[in-house]
Amino acid sequence: MRRVSVFGATGSVGVSTLDLLARRDDLKVAVLTGGRNVELLAEQARAHRPELVVTAFEECYRPLKEALANTGIEVAGGPGAVVEAGYREADWVMSAIVGAAGLAPGFAALSQGKTLALANKESLVTAGPLLLAEARTHGATILPVDSEHSAVFQALVGESLEHVETVTLTASGGGLRDWPLEKLALATPEEAGRHPNWDMGQRITIDSASMFNKAMEVIEAHEFFGLLPEQVEVLIHPQSLVHALVAFRDGAVMGHLGAPDMRHPIGYALNWPERGDLPVARLNLAKAGRLDFAEPDLARYPALGLARQVMETGGAAGAVFNAAKEIALDHFIARNIGFLDMAAVVEATLSAYAARHAIGKTPASLDEVLCVDAEARALAGTAATERATARV
Ligand code: NAD
Ligand code: MG
Repeated sequence: MRRVSVFGATGSVGVSTLDLLARRDDLKVAVLTGGRNVELLAEQARAHRPELVVTAFEECYRPLKEALANTGIEVAGGPGAVVEAGYREADWVMSAIVGAAGLAPGFAALSQGKTLALANKESLVTAGPLLLAEARTHGATILPVDSEHSAVFQALVGESLEHVETVTLTASGGGLRDWPLEKLALATPEEAGRHPNWDMGQRITIDSASMFNKAMEVIEAHEFFGLLPEQVEVLIHPQSLVHALVAFRDGAVMGHLGAPDMRHPIGYALNWPERGDLPVARLNLAKAGRLDFAEPDLARYPALGLARQVMETGGAAGAVFNAAKEIALDHFIARNIGFLDMAAVVEATLSAYAARHAIGKTPASLDEVLCVDAEARALAGTAATERATARV
């Protein structure tokens, strides 16, 4: 029986993944991992009967162990145990941990030479070349799960990358799309944390409003598909029904459309290279009535300009960008800095890192990536504190 594992099972993507797994009787769940949400993780374990359940936090080990007493399910705790679980035999592994913490377990899973369904976009942004090399070394397959990247992947079936002119990722514009520019600086985490179309975790929802999510995805597409920076474009599309467009040299454009439901890209990766029935709403274009598109305003979305800078710089810039973005987001959620300060913090961190190191040099190992990540976090913390002080 095909063995599947879900890393980040208690998150938004993880829950959608388990929803699909629950509808199948031809799969055996090997591993589930989660974080502090012990109750949900234990409930998922009772429902899916994995061999092993892991919480990433040591202090959650005991409560999880108690919750699963007498079930015969193995329980482990701590970040090392999550990475270790990546080596547990599995044919298909969902990488849906949020943040740089998803990196090492993904690498571990790739070493099995099977399939990694990759939702954790931070893996490609921080360590794209290393991750792809690891997959090649072990003969493993990486399938993109980010909806836009799954859409591009699907539009490219049977096509040659040489024939691609541009790839366009669509963006809803997030919860603050229609706010006047001068009001944006005052947006609260609650206001930025509401999404018009997608039901996602809080962090990625705020990243949608700032377009840091789209900036990450632009870098992700550049890394995963091997596209030049200028080949990756972004269009605002409020309806979120067109997920991506691939334009070819002969003028043809292949678009991927569908209801905004992560179970589509997750299910596509689960059924690949076949297609299977999925419980997603069917697209009714007559009912939708219209599809709107607009160019994003870079003054409103400085994150998109920073993504371009990161792609041009290459090397460690992606890891610095991601780490700085995570810290800036922490400070925004903690109300230390304003909504637009996030981009300023990331920009300051990229400059501060470049002043100390050859930022264009590609980290040679996962350990090096994690060192860049740690240093960039410290630099971003300083930059955020400076912004916070300036604000008072
Ligand atoms: P989420 O916050 O809802 O869930 C994150 C999961 O990671 C949870 O299971 C949590 O317990 C676990 N986790 C948190 N910190 C951890 C740590 N330090 N170590 C190990 N596990 C930890 O996030 P999400 O929205 O499901 O997103 C997961 C990933 O997928 C992110 O990289 C995100 O960018 C990407 N993604 C999400 C969506 C979406 O619709 N939510 C779409 C595309 C891509
Ligand atoms: Mg996406």
